Amino acid sequence: MPNPERYTVTSALPYANGPIHIGHIAGAYLPADIYVRYLRSQGRDVVYICGSDEHGAAITLRAKKEGIGPKEIVDKYHELNKNTFKQFGISFNIYHRTSSQIHHETASGFFSKLYDLGQFTRKTNEQYFDETEQQFLADRYISGTCPKCNYDSAYGDQCEKCGSSLSPNELINPKSTLSGETPVQKKTTHWYLPLNKFEPWLREWIIEGHKEDWKPNVYGQCKSWIDSGLLPRAMTRDLDWGVKVPLENAEGKVLYVWLDAPIGYISATKQWAADNGKNWEDYWKSESTNLIHFIGKDNIVFHCIIFPILLKAHGGYVLPTNVPANEFLNLEGEKISTSRNHAIWLHEYLKEFPDKKDEMRYVLCSIAPETKDSEFKWKDFQARVNNELVAIFGNFVNRSLVLTHKYFEGKVPEQGELTDKEKQVFDEIETLVANIGSSIEAHRYREALATAMNIARIGNGYLAETEPWKLIKQDEERVKTILNTSLQICATLSIVLEPFLPHVCGKLNEMLNHPKCEWGKADDQQILQTGNQMRKPELLFQKIEDTVIEAQVAKLKSISIVAEDSVNSNSRKKPFVRFEEFSKFDIRTGVIIEAEPIPKADKVLKLKVDLGTEQRTIVAGVAGYYSPDEILGQKVCVLVNLEPRKIRGIESQGMILMAENSDQSKLTFISPQQEIENGAIIR
Ligand SMILES: [Zn+2]
Repeated sequence: MPNPERYTVTSALPYANGPIHIGHIAGAYLPADIYVRYLRSQGRDVVYICGSDEHGAAITLRAKKEGIGPKEIVDKYHELNKNTFKQFGISFNIYHRTSSQIHHETASGFFSKLYDLGQFTRKTNEQYFDETEQQFLADRYISGTCPKCNYDSAYGDQCEKCGSSLSPNELINPKSTLSGETPVQKKTTHWYLPLNKFEPWLREWIIEGHKEDWKPNVYGQCKSWIDSGLLPRAMTRDLDWGVKVPLENAEGKVLYVWLDAPIGYISATKQWAADNGKNWEDYWKSESTNLIHFIGKDNIVFHCIIFPILLKAHGGYVLPTNVPANEFLNLEGEKISTSRNHAIWLHEYLKEFPDKKDEMRYVLCSIAPETKDSEFKWKDFQARVNNELVAIFGNFVNRSLVLTHKYFEGKVPEQGELTDKEKQVFDEIETLVANIGSSIEAHRYREALATAMNIARIGNGYLAETEPWKLIKQDEERVKTILNTSLQICATLSIVLEPFLPHVCGKLNEMLNHPKCEWGKADDQQILQTGNQMRKPELLFQKIEDTVIEAQVAKLKSISIVAEDSVNSNSRKKPFVRFEEFSKFDIRTGVIIEAEPIPKADKVLKLKVDLGTEQRTIVAGVAGYYSPDEILGQKVCVLVNLEPRKIRGIESQGMILMAENSDQSKLTFISPQQEIENGAIIR
């Protein structure tokens, strides 16, 4: 709707099991904050909703690992994230929690309504169950070997190494991450929402209806989901942490976190409305409300397909008007990884750079992954701050104010007769201000920010051309007009850059000694009154030195290495075994007597190993490290009673033992230290 009466804007509810990093900010929070600040400055009715997502298996898993209750985990990260967002200037109207009473009531009521309407089908099937812990295992609680890449710590829903999405049944050698035991299959009952039933409606609503106005990356993902066919999805889970299923015979079951979490937007709005004397239904049920969800691309299906289906199935709610999801932000050449600690954590950044909030906002908006993945580099951060914020915006404001203090005691001088030059400058600014607005409304924030910075460039060009510092001796009246014009441009900048750089624009307004203005004033030629006494100018931005950047790059490298080591060694630590179990392994010495490559298999070699009494064919994954010639005559240790298995069409009759370092850069044979006959027993 082009001119709605009000806006309900949401940012993805962060999971309360860890802190926020810059990738989250660039994806779902900064663009939303820019949008709502712009809308508010237009005087529009907007509520900006967010909060902690406090349910789901990832939280109970984290709690078990740390040996504390889930409540302690969510309390800790709710507070941390709430404060971090606030300090960074993300201007939520409410930052709520899904563990709150009002949320439990809302989510539970929503489920009951769907149940009463007959929207669910009840199904019993077999799922993995941990007999030691006596509980069903959510996908995240199961780990095993990835069938696609052989990574040995893949999860039941995803392999973090190769990125494949998996189902628990696909994992080779599945283990419960709670007890380390092999889980068994056990029957359980759940309530499913037949997403497939809504397919014709989704085609009409998204594929026909939002072809033009949704971002191509969002539209494309929705279309491919719908085209590949939707399946019924369980809306309940076997877990003891979450919103209880409000039905009889449903003990030990909670609502699926992707049913629960988006309803969090509704319950947060209820809380905000109650606190502020508003009617929450206006913001969710009125046809004149625009509902906009800001998220990262990993949440597109939940916000564009599953949540709208829930709203539609329930009835009475508006549907999302737009879901301007962003792609991913990478960091220094790699994907951001929370498990490897390859990330810039926002709360740490704020501690280290307490006066550089807007510098990070500026850079994250400039490189926002709006249409494809993008990358944050500390070197680029430094360049953008120094060459753009300091050299263009900061420099223009500083020159305008310093000259005014020098010539006119800091009072806004009179605007005399405008020459063609000023008329041209004001015309250009008028066009740019309009363009910034339309870019923001189209969710093109990078473009909007670049356009706003062009106003500062125009200001710099204008000063360079008119040279008031040279004119002051001959023509003071003309200098008055020039500086008045420059100061009006500063005031325009304080309005159009406020959504992007709220802290700095606040400081600029203080220096101009002028209150914050609404958007409609931005192209006004007389924002500041003649004679207005301004405060002493301070620099809006400071240059960032090389040493500061080098320290950050070094920090990132060192924490990534430490984290990687600990992840690797952790994943290799195995539970105790009894001696009888170990003695089942028949390990013997041998020597490689033949080695040849296998066509189309670049990782493995086909080896013949002499074990004294016999020779065995063994396929070994050493081709990435050794050439066939290099290993002829190599003494080795062989697990000879490993069940034979076909690898690349060849039966491998045993396994050669190898040692590998933690970053997998080195793989080496294990061989006896002294001469010993082939076939000697290792024990
Ligand atoms: Zn994999």
